[in-house]
Amino acid sequence: MAKIQEKVSHREKPSAYESLITRFEEAADIINLDQRFRDIIRVAERVVNVNLPVKLDDGTTRVFEGFRVVHSTVMGPSKGGIRYAPFVDLDEVKALAGWMTFKCALVGLPYGGAKGGITLNPKVRSMDELERITRAYTRSLKDVFGEDSDIPAPDMGTSYREMAWIFHEYSRIYGYTPGVVTGKPLHLGGSKGRVPATGWGVMLSALLAIEKLGWKKEECTCAIQGFGNVGSWAAKLLSDEGLTIVAISDHTGGYHNENGIDVRDAIEYVKNNGTLKGYKNATQITNDELLALKVDVLSPSAIENVITEANAHTIQAPLIVEGANGPVSADADSILDEKGILIVPDILANAGGVTVSYFEWVQNRRGHYYSEQEIQDKTRPILTEAFERVYETHKQYKCSMRIAAYIVAIKRLSTGIDLEGNF
Ligand code: NAD
Repeated sequence: MAKIQEKVSHREKPSAYESLITRFEEAADIINLDQRFRDIIRVAERVVNVNLPVKLDDGTTRVFEGFRVVHSTVMGPSKGGIRYAPFVDLDEVKALAGWMTFKCALVGLPYGGAKGGITLNPKVRSMDELERITRAYTRSLKDVFGEDSDIPAPDMGTSYREMAWIFHEYSRIYGYTPGVVTGKPLHLGGSKGRVPATGWGVMLSALLAIEKLGWKKEECTCAIQGFGNVGSWAAKLLSDEGLTIVAISDHTGGYHNENGIDVRDAIEYVKNNGTLKGYKNATQITNDELLALKVDVLSPSAIENVITEANAHTIQAPLIVEGANGPVSADADSILDEKGILIVPDILANAGGVTVSYFEWVQNRRGHYYSEQEIQDKTRPILTEAFERVYETHKQYKCSMRIAAYIVAIKRLSTGIDLEGNF
């Protein structure tokens, strides 16, 4: 029997956590951040490592390793998704948790940051196995999760299905608690507009940046890496706004058509075939070739560290909008800056997901539900104001949009820590 690839290392890539710390220190230096705040903000409050023995469909037992990192609860209960992927490790989860802290502080949500993950390959696990693993993970973290303490959500490899299991397992222990997790199915207290929310935020960020650059959106070409929740929604919504999506990709490779990809057709193809593999209405290219295309807008919306020191010099797009978390490593920042590329950073560009998650939590706690239009009307000003604040800060300190976003977040966090007093 072929060996199942349950765990793969991507440690040859730069450390995502080091990338986070490098940017944090750069921003902290610019604003002369007091050492007390640096010491508190740069480390996670709590790191939990669990080992979950789970019975597989063939009757054998396998132990799955999982993590939950609560980076900060200064601004409120910690918030952050759960990732199922073969390459999940502690370094990655720590970085993702820290980014959640900065993201929530940046957009002004009453949340801190956390992230979780289980090292597994969801593609080779049956639905029953995934359910048992998710329930075991929930039970082992029952004292960490809570609607006023730590609220998970979907991330790569998880969806509303896993969130429903978490909600149900947690509620079995503590009673009905829909606010303990967001990204739930609509039937179980999910919010309208949550599924497209992150891609919608990527679209909005791209349009705001295009406006700042004085371009016409109808004349812009765009390449998007990743065709999952974030990438496919960003592609669809940007194409609805009149941009020409010339390339898309997933883990099977890239697909290029300079006359424009019919995004709805590609979404339908993935619905029927599982992946883009074999997609006919485009020329196959590699993911690296997609990143290097001469387009106006590039949106890496798959995984972290796809643009590093090794390939940053090949990037031709003058505007990058980061749908994924951490797609550009810190060592690539200066190369891209020198090329004059404007980057709308992850903690700003993909904040639409957590913003709508916040409204899901509010609705659960009030027992009153909003229409999709109401959700959009509440989300748009939050993301637009965050974008404008980052843009102003980038001009004020003559730094990149990324460092400006960290500055805005760090100022809010350090004010919060200061107001808490001398503990
Ligand atoms: P997903 O699992 O729905 O989709 C991931 C996509 O990336 C798939 O199309 C997959 O084939 C592709 N992919 C995986 N490895 C790849 C590789 N090596 N090269 C190219 N493509 C590859 O995940 P998602 O929810 O869309 O998340 C994507 C990114 O966005 C992650 O970094 C995630 O942390 C971030 N993010 C997601 C949300 C959300 O609400 N889902 C919110 C904020 C940030």
